[in-house]
Amino acid sequence: MSKNLNNTHKLQLNKEEMKNYGYQVIDSIVDHFDTEHLKKPVAYASREEMDTLFNIEAPEKETNFQDVLDFVVKEVLPNSNIVSHPKSYSFVPGPSNYVSVMADTLATGFNVFSGGWAASPAAAELEIVTMNWLLKLFKFPKKKGGGIFTSGGSMANLTALVTARRQRCGDDFSKAIIYMSDQAHSSNIKAIRVLGFKKEQVRIIPTDIAFKMAINKLKNAIAKDRLKGLQPFCIIASAGTTNTGSVDPLDEIAAICKTEKLWFHVDGAYGGAAVLSKKGKLLLKGIEKADSLTIDPHKWLFQPYEMGCLLVRNHKWLSKTFSEKPEYLRDIEGNTSEINFYDHGIQLTRRFRALKFYMSMKTFGLEAFKTAISYSIDLTENVEAYLRKSSNWEVISPATLAVINFRYNPIEMAFSEKKLDVLNQHISQKILESREALLVTTILQNQIVLRMCLINPRTTLNDIKDTLALCESIAKNSMS
Ligand SMILES: *Cc1c(COP(=O)(O)O)cnc(C)c1O
Repeated sequence: MSKNLNNTHKLQLNKEEMKNYGYQVIDSIVDHFDTEHLKKPVAYASREEMDTLFNIEAPEKETNFQDVLDFVVKEVLPNSNIVSHPKSYSFVPGPSNYVSVMADTLATGFNVFSGGWAASPAAAELEIVTMNWLLKLFKFPKKKGGGIFTSGGSMANLTALVTARRQRCGDDFSKAIIYMSDQAHSSNIKAIRVLGFKKEQVRIIPTDIAFKMAINKLKNAIAKDRLKGLQPFCIIASAGTTNTGSVDPLDEIAAICKTEKLWFHVDGAYGGAAVLSKKGKLLLKGIEKADSLTIDPHKWLFQPYEMGCLLVRNHKWLSKTFSEKPEYLRDIEGNTSEINFYDHGIQLTRRFRALKFYMSMKTFGLEAFKTAISYSIDLTENVEAYLRKSSNWEVISPATLAVINFRYNPIEMAFSEKKLDVLNQHISQKILESREALLVTTILQNQIVLRMCLINPRTTLNDIKDTLALCESIAKNSMS
């Protein structure tokens, strides 16, 4: 196997070469799944180190394929954070699952074009079927509802806002105003910028002490904008903010949208999946009233990157927003029930994302997903109880949809706020340097706090106790 490939001028490998190559790739993926918990989750490398390893001119001549593969397995793949590691607590972990990894491999292997019905009736059908599963889970209208898989939550939010604007503003959106809380995800601001709204067309509504949009302030803002002759047009509510897991008052916002005739977009990229649990369903009440809803299966629905999703109350809103009819697509228009997903979103050529969702749901069953999501919510509540009982830790934002924020604040020390900020920043810094856990800070009400997002069903209370003990010893060392 050390000899070079035969048919490189046609970018081909022979059957034996392909098998050998493929088996090695699968072996390294399986090995990673099997041993990732024994590795360190944090990668750290400078640009200089990475340049030294990888920066070469595009090679004119072939390289022995075994050498390329070995080099990638040895040098490329280990230089990334392991987001599915049980001690990856930061940002939003990506627990993933092996069945979906294999599904992605199949979809890529067959290079399925998931743009139009004619190119792959099965891909389109699976997207329709899985979308119907999701519509039902979120109690969206069964017949009228629709949606589309995207690369992630950012693209789903963008797709939603394009649709909202098209439906509500038409071509003149110069006076349209969008409302969201100070905890809304940055991707919404990006989407608004991409769409060409001015900064002055966005109202950032303050949050209350539980980090939920302050309804009174929202109502004031809308009323004042009307007085100024502006056109309130859309409210973006967060269903699980990334910072604290807080859910905006969805029912109340839905009611405001109804009386004020505003578009109700819910960004559930982080927390939406929690409708699969009893506790989550209660917290997310009102989500079913959204005109458009972003969820992000590559977060809490355990799909590997990339997979986001937009659901809408009426599938026609998507086709009315995104249909274009170029001459060369004329012949494949087809029957209207045979959806061309290129007419429902921004991309024409699309990878076959529905396959991994379909295969993992079918293989594990919804019940496994429900159990995993409930487990994480319970685990985070147990972490909260553990922190409250400790004399070293202070809970800053309680366990909410598997997110908890806390800080090191030993009761006998009476540290100043400034000292606490420095200390908690130091703890995170040292933990990252140790590479033992991915744990970073966030800022809540001007305090630097540690944040854990515990959506990985393989994270245990013992993993967390381990990490907290390490944090405590770092803190004690720094004080002595
Ligand atoms: C992660 C996240 C997004 C962005 O999703 P991507 O998949 O990273 O593009 C948007 N909104 C919220 C609330 C998120 O947590």
